[in-house]
Amino acid sequence: MSWRVLVLGGTAEGRRLTEKLAALPGVEVIYSIAGRVAAPALPTAARIRVGGFGGVDGLASYLRDAGIAAVIDATHPYAALMTAAAVTGSNAAAVPLLVVRRPGWPETDGDDWHRVPSLAAAAAALGGFGERVFLTTGRSGIAAFAGSDRHWFLLRSIEAPSPPMPARMDVLLERGPFTVEGETALMRGHRIDVIVTKNSGGPLTAAKLVAARHLGLPVLMVDRPPLPPGTPAVATPEDAVAWFTDWSGRPMGHAPVDDSG
Ligand code: NAP
Repeated sequence: MSWRVLVLGGTAEGRRLTEKLAALPGVEVIYSIAGRVAAPALPTAARIRVGGFGGVDGLASYLRDAGIAAVIDATHPYAALMTAAAVTGSNAAAVPLLVVRRPGWPETDGDDWHRVPSLAAAAAALGGFGERVFLTTGRSGIAAFAGSDRHWFLLRSIEAPSPPMPARMDVLLERGPFTVEGETALMRGHRIDVIVTKNSGGPLTAAKLVAARHLGLPVLMVDRPPLPPGTPAVATPEDAVAWFTDWSGRPMGHAPVDDSG
């Protein structure tokens, strides 16, 4: 008998959580990614499933058909569609859900942050800053800046972007972690005036904010989408493992999968 856990991944936390859960006796992990990245980083100790579920109904059917005992959503803090579907779909399938949400970066002394509610709001606010923009919001967000003719963009993303996108743009295909020294040199070398970023949190991509602080550069910080009200959430994979061991010691919802036959 084993507990089958679905981890919604695409993050370092998702991978770490998967390795920790899979090390528990009697736990089988299915690690799910959207499938947008050509060479995704993956955990070693899980079955991997790739691609969307087909919305809320598709996810609820998957949870029932695959005999999932619990769902842990460890997607990126800005993957709001997936998290909303996880909340509704797990509820529909009567499968317990937990969200792992890493804390955002705090604004500290010397920072010059300008909070905006969306990528569209960031694009609209650019007129108040200089011409040369460092964009670290990912290739999927580039369309929001397609009409910004008066600015030049340096986009850093893991995969190449596709139109619509700004007319004046250079693309840097890179995956973190990044260093403060590297980020400082990059911003100086490209004579960056302003940075546009999401408050992703975590250590892998925080160096750009330290570099911006040292260089006195303004940062347009796109707010995180809120979690659906009442969603149970923890900050770290370790907290999620504690939730799971506590919960699975007191079974409720789906019974463990009988995979003995
Ligand atoms: P999203 O807008 O919330 O999701 C769009 C659709 O992609 C979902 O409705 C779902 O399709 C599918 N999907 C998303 N995550 C999935 C997963 N882990 N497994 C299976 N299907 C998934 O998501 P996103 O912002 O595009 O992010 C996609 C992936 O990249 C996530 O795994 C996320 O953790 C990772 N990521 C995102 C960011 C970011 O800034 N948004 C940054 C780093 C990594 P269906 O409706 O068909 O089920």
